[in-house]
Amino acid sequence: MNILERYHAMDYAPAPEARSEADAWLAGRDFSKSLFIAGEWRAAADEKTFDTEDPSSGKLLAKVSDASAADIETAVAAARKALPKWSAASGYERAKVLYAIGRAMQRHQRLFAVLESLDNGKPIRESRDIDVPLAIRHFIHHAGWAQSLDKEFPGRKPAGVVGQIIPWNFPLLMLAWKIAPALATGCTVVLKPAEFTPLTAILFAEICERAGVPRGVVNIVQGGPEAGAAIVNHAGIDKIAFTGSSEVGKIIRKATAGSGKKLSLELGGKSAFIVFEDADLDSAVEGLVDGIWFNQGQVCCAGSRLLVQESVADAFIAKVKTRMSRLRVGAPLDKNTDIGPLVDKTQLDRVRRLVEEGARQGAVCWQPDQDVPETGYYHLPTLATGVAPANILAQEEVFGPVLATMSFRNTEEAVELANNTRYGLAASVWSENVNLALHVAPQLKAGVVWVNGTNMFDASCGFGGYRESGFGREGGREGLEEYLASSEPHGPVIKPASAPKAAARDNGESHAIDRTAKLFIGGKQVRPDGNYSIAVLTPKGKLAGEVGLGSRKDIRDAVSAARACKAWPEATAYNRAQVLYYLAENLSGRTEDFAARISELTGASHKVAKAEVETSIERLFYYAGMADKFEGRVHQPPARTVTLALHEPVGVIGIVASDEAPLLGLISLIAPALAMGNTVVLVPSTTAPLVATDLYQVIEYSDVPSGAISIVTGHTAELAAVLAKHDDVDGLWVVAEADICARAEAESTGNLKRVWTGHGRSLDWPTAQGEAFLRRATEVKNVWVPYGD
Ligand code: NAD
Repeated sequence: MNILERYHAMDYAPAPEARSEADAWLAGRDFSKSLFIAGEWRAAADEKTFDTEDPSSGKLLAKVSDASAADIETAVAAARKALPKWSAASGYERAKVLYAIGRAMQRHQRLFAVLESLDNGKPIRESRDIDVPLAIRHFIHHAGWAQSLDKEFPGRKPAGVVGQIIPWNFPLLMLAWKIAPALATGCTVVLKPAEFTPLTAILFAEICERAGVPRGVVNIVQGGPEAGAAIVNHAGIDKIAFTGSSEVGKIIRKATAGSGKKLSLELGGKSAFIVFEDADLDSAVEGLVDGIWFNQGQVCCAGSRLLVQESVADAFIAKVKTRMSRLRVGAPLDKNTDIGPLVDKTQLDRVRRLVEEGARQGAVCWQPDQDVPETGYYHLPTLATGVAPANILAQEEVFGPVLATMSFRNTEEAVELANNTRYGLAASVWSENVNLALHVAPQLKAGVVWVNGTNMFDASCGFGGYRESGFGREGGREGLEEYLASSEPHGPVIKPASAPKAAARDNGESHAIDRTAKLFIGGKQVRPDGNYSIAVLTPKGKLAGEVGLGSRKDIRDAVSAARACKAWPEATAYNRAQVLYYLAENLSGRTEDFAARISELTGASHKVAKAEVETSIERLFYYAGMADKFEGRVHQPPARTVTLALHEPVGVIGIVASDEAPLLGLISLIAPALAMGNTVVLVPSTTAPLVATDLYQVIEYSDVPSGAISIVTGHTAELAAVLAKHDDVDGLWVVAEADICARAEAESTGNLKRVWTGHGRSLDWPTAQGEAFLRRATEVKNVWVPYGD
């Protein structure tokens, strides 16, 4: 071949990354002692090991200690022991340790990258240029947070001992996302890497030894689901941070129900990659390559659903096919490789199965005409067209290099298709019209939206999902919240309600015209579906009145009304503020009535009851004022982009209010929810529901749109369970007995709604006000907007 022929052929010669240092590290370590507990290297208590292999060859890399419950016990004890000193260390002390970790990782950057590619199969270009630098940045970024914590989060305490469980797709990066904020906030850690990819976590533990991390502050235990479950169920752990599949996330939600453990779940996704007709199509094709073929598509936020506007669909798909034909499938350590092997044979089999099933359901699956290496778990990049919205490839997370495409006609349809998924992790929007992109972004049910870009991450920006993609954020200020103990002022333990006493015979009924309190659903007073009522008694057993006995059907109607109410979430914050002020004004006009009602139902003196009404009015005033002040932020990651951390309502929130402080307890919960634009289905106090039913008129006079607040009286335990199981409820707050709280958490797994409970305790209602409540009423969506030519 002469030079001209060579030039035209433009063939790539292999460009392998050297692996000698990684091989030397592998050969020089005793992997039979690879649990890092209390600053020491230990074998598993039962001396068990598991194999980790190179997915490009299937060859054994190491036999690694396999932790059992006994090892988790030791690791948790070490973390508990280390907690008091570490959490009491100054922010500066912790900052120095985080910085030292970051710097030590920098010194071994290439070794980390090669080991990651060997163990996971990801192309070296990705581990070298993306995973490892981002992981290092996470530690260095969080050094600053450690030092400024007292100023930025005054009075907050660390969550405590944290159990962290991570997946195999970004082994080192996920470790960094977990450990850096935990150390910054003064927590100690028991972290379990995924069983397919334990190596970089072992190297990281070596770094901890050298960086002066005190013994027991970071414990790394290798193992599988059994070790993971032992972490989840350990009573000595205060918080669980999990990244992995939605299936396991649901198991963990159930397992931690009622335990009081703080929980964050970063789960799967089925993210939309939306291309409008005015997009720069060539840039969008490059974006798509990063969106779905980065890390072989084994990315939680992979743009695995391409939605392209009909007018450009054919042209765009043609460009995508041409580009796919040029993707280089090959050895992970070759610097020319775009697509490496999948992590394991089981993953390859799963992807093949899903592609076959997608084709059986009518999708046309296309692959470029290429060979794959003879050994290893390779899967060619795959494009599925003709995908119906219900096709398995449009609904299931494939977690492989498979792109499902659909087309849309207009913006409305694009948003509808994008949101037609049980997940809500990320989305990309491509359009040269920034107005259109920023109009679409808030409408997408996803925690992260990239405009004209994809898969951008940074330590300063929160990352995390809505719906079955989990809850909680990782990164930046939002991520730190997850590692701080909750700040709501606790009240007394709520005792189980005693059996209702029979109404005294002489109940002192007046001869006023009988008024039966109905339910309040969709802005109307309606009879309960079952047409039953329950008696409301005074503390002396006299009949104070009757309220409707709400049922499953009534809750369903109330949730439908809340979902259908668009006027409230779409109102401006200023508008919501005015309605809340008006509610306060109208309530103040009825101060004496409400005080009398509270006295009647609780036995409180007139003075105490009046004080409760007055504090409730003040609370409405506070949240009215905050409606347009609890705003998002702008992050400035080290790239040419601004990231808008927008505050959005959670959606439909079910609220189960306490018996204690029947008016103030209720207002303290519904006011922040409403202020942030949520619609509310309220189950009021069981013992004093007439306080809530008396509010109907106040609500009716205050310009609250129909469906923004619905009130269903009845038995708390029963109605709380219905709300917990309802898949169209996005958030649930419960202040009730411990077992009702635990059930609400356990039964919320259908759609993984965000549940907050008092864990069987009431709140200190006079002081239960502030940003903690507004935060709980808010989802943070990070919208990345790149700039520059
Ligand atoms: P997985 O849920 O099977 O495993 C994740 C981790 O959980 C592993 O360490 C595993 O050992 C452990 N585990 C398994 N069963 C457990 C149990 N019963 N109790 C406790 N721990 C248990 O997920 P995976 O296959 O390793 O990872 C892929 C999944 O991770 C995908 O769904 C992907 O979308 C998700 N993911 C999400 C994010 C995010 O930030 N949202 C990031 C990366 C990956």
